[in-house]
Amino acid sequence: MNIVLLGCPGSGKGTQASLISKKYNLFHLSGGDIARSAAETDTRIADIVNSGKLIPEEEMTSYVMNYLPKVKPDFKNILFEGFPRFISQYEALNKFLYEKGEEIKVVFTLDLTEEEAVRRITSRRICKNDGEVYNLITKKPKTDGVCDICGGELIKRADDNEEDIKTRFENYYANTKKLTDFLKEKGKIISIDGSNSIDEIFKQIEERLEEYVR
Ligand code: AMP
Repeated sequence: MNIVLLGCPGSGKGTQASLISKKYNLFHLSGGDIARSAAETDTRIADIVNSGKLIPEEEMTSYVMNYLPKVKPDFKNILFEGFPRFISQYEALNKFLYEKGEEIKVVFTLDLTEEEAVRRITSRRICKNDGEVYNLITKKPKTDGVCDICGGELIKRADDNEEDIKTRFENYYANTKKLTDFLKEKGKIISIDGSNSIDEIFKQIEERLEEYVR
């Protein structure tokens, strides 16, 4: 079962993607992780990623299409998070999977107001070592500034600052929101209220997934 998870910046996509992939044994494909890994060896990409801008849509698509056969050559049981973000990326992914005899089974979007999303993003912290994500409001570490799992230092993501958050929202409205609306029109998307607690959101997703895993 291949799933796509959409939502605005700060809507909890990464957190829910981890929970969903663990429970349903899916491979978590994170567009952000692929982009950050490309940024390690390419300063042009690093400038884009660290300033909240988006990698050109077709370039990002080709990163994903090159990466997928290496990590998941059966193209099954993948949870796509952060990719696709554009209508063109969705259509390219659809076509790519179709050619491999697979499909996107279900698309979720996490709905959240921009105000609440900004509040969450500014309280987000990530572990420098293992990338575990915390939130000073919704998922506090046991000890301030320290990762519960590996003891690593918790830091702010480079693009989690006021100016870059603004850019990310502009990108969201200009691109991903259009993809969401496009899928809504086709009746191909399930909207989940992203303002609830992490557990409640996950419960709602599980309920909706029941019909697909039966
Ligand atoms: P995220 O962790 O999903 O917020 O993504 C972090 C950054 O990675 C974004 O701000 C973009 O620079 C880049 N990125 C991730 N996914 C995509 C995508 N589908 N298309 C273009 N750029 C992307």
